[in-house]
Amino acid sequence: MSKIVDEVLSANAAYAAKFGDKGKLPMPPGRRFAILTCMDARLDPAKYAGLAEGDAHVIRNAGGRASDDAIRSLVISYKLLGTREWFVIHHSDCGMLTFTEPVMAELLASSLKPAKLEAAGWRDVGPGPGSPEGRYINWLSISDNAKSVVEDVTRIRAHPLVPDDIPIYGYIYDVKSGRLNEIKDATEAGRARRAV
Ligand SMILES: [Zn+2]
Repeated sequence: MSKIVDEVLSANAAYAAKFGDKGKLPMPPGRRFAILTCMDARLDPAKYAGLAEGDAHVIRNAGGRASDDAIRSLVISYKLLGTREWFVIHHSDCGMLTFTEPVMAELLASSLKPAKLEAAGWRDVGPGPGSPEGRYINWLSISDNAKSVVEDVTRIRAHPLVPDDIPIYGYIYDVKSGRLNEIKDATEAGRARRAV
C-alpha cells in the first residue's frame, strides 16, 4: 500500500473512533451557507471560516472559480439543501495566477508530465508526447485576484438558475496572515436584489 494511503487510513481510523454524535447530523447544512474556494493546500475552510461537520457546503476547485460545475453545486446547495448565503473566496499567491490559457494548452501539447515553474514562467521538463486536448478546455486562469472575485460573483449573480434573493460575498484569503479581506466591489455585485 502507498505510504499516503496508509497515513490517510490510519488518520481516518482515529477520526472515526471519536466520531461521537456526528452520525446523527442531518444532510442540509445547519448554518445554511456555502463557500466556493480554491483547492490550494494552504487553505482550510473549516479552520479559516470556523466550520464544524454539518455546518456549511464547501465547493472547491482550482482557483475557486465560478465554473459551470461550481454553479451546479451552488444551485443544488440552495434549491435542495437550504443554503441562503454564499461566499466566493479566492486567495493571494494562487497557482492560477502563474499561467495563461495558451501557456497551459502549449505545456500539455508538448508533455503530460509535470512542468516546472521558473523565473521566466512554466517550462516543460518531461518527455512527450503531449496532447492538443488542452486547447479545448477553459482553464479559468487568473490575471488579477480582485478582478477574478468580482467576475465570479457577477457571473453567479447573473446566472439564470440563481435566485435573486441570495447574497453572494466576495473575499480574498491572505495566505501570509490567514485573514479574509473583503472585495467590496464583489460583495456589491453580489448583493441580494431582495431581502433574505
Ligand atoms: Zn489557488
